[in-house]
Amino acid sequence: MIETRQITKRYGDLVAVDGISFKVESGQVLGFLGPNGAGKSTTMKIVAGFLAPTSGSATVAGFDVETQPLQAKRALGYLPEGAPSYGEMNVREFLNFIADARELRGDARDQRIDDVVGRLHLEAVLEQPIDTLSKGFKRRVGLAGAILHDPKVLILDEPTDGLDPNQKQEVRTLINSMARDKTIIISTHLLEEVHAVCTRAIIIANGRILADATPAELEARSRYHQAVSLTATSVQAAKEALARVADIAAIEVDPQDNRITAFPKPGRSIFVAVGDALKAQGVVVRELALEAGRLDEVFRTITLGAVGPEART
Ligand code: ADP
Repeated sequence: MIETRQITKRYGDLVAVDGISFKVESGQVLGFLGPNGAGKSTTMKIVAGFLAPTSGSATVAGFDVETQPLQAKRALGYLPEGAPSYGEMNVREFLNFIADARELRGDARDQRIDDVVGRLHLEAVLEQPIDTLSKGFKRRVGLAGAILHDPKVLILDEPTDGLDPNQKQEVRTLINSMARDKTIIISTHLLEEVHAVCTRAIIIANGRILADATPAELEARSRYHQAVSLTATSVQAAKEALARVADIAAIEVDPQDNRITAFPKPGRSIFVAVGDALKAQGVVVRELALEAGRLDEVFRTITLGAVGPEART
């Protein structure tokens, strides 16, 4: 449904996007992750047909975004970063304007407008100029505009930016409910969002793809993957018990909360042995958990040391 081939975007000497290629199939929710300035927005603008690449090409639903822009845009909903343009319009006027642009007519048009107003809870602000809305409402109005024509492909640039935790949750639920029959790319710098909505994540830095994997595969790269963390009434007794588990490679104690983490030797599983050893030594355990891995640590490791694009020519 979406394919990019070696897209590159240069601004003078700055290479904002540097030969990015990927494919996204129907039903996938692809998360674009990366530090600020990584090239996420630029890539999304190119795929959405709002910015021409310096070289390379992109297709949406089989249509080239540069040579068949109308067909590509018909299949696509795009939420740009920031607030919707046309801030002087009120929300009802804005949705009508988008409905006109999308050539929605008759009952179908009324139904679609009612549907997005309901889904994004815009009833109370319909008559209010967009410029006067809070950041969260502006984001929801933009999202309503992006999904109004019920497109097969959605490109959402930081869809939950500016929303409070409840609103974030609502938008994530909305994305999940749309994921079944759509192809969705979202950019985010929130790692919890990757867990909440993405089936796959691409990590980019300096305009290049550094990792392309499922969230679980990324977590498996963490040194915390398969580690066991615990809190016990006596740290010393717990450490003595853990010393008897042969497959533990290292033990760390967090000085903040006395949480103990035991790291397994490569390829080993220690959860059962840790439980048995603590029990055998009579250690009183408050909490015992097997770690899936920490995305924040994987993200830092992958993107660390990346030179800023400003330094490259
Ligand atoms: P991200 O979305 O990952 O934060 P962007 O795609 O917005 O990153 O930006 C990538 C790089 O391109 C940054 O260094 C940014 O400053 C630069 N850039 C983006 N747009 C322009 C522009 N219109 N002119 C010059 N440089 C730009």
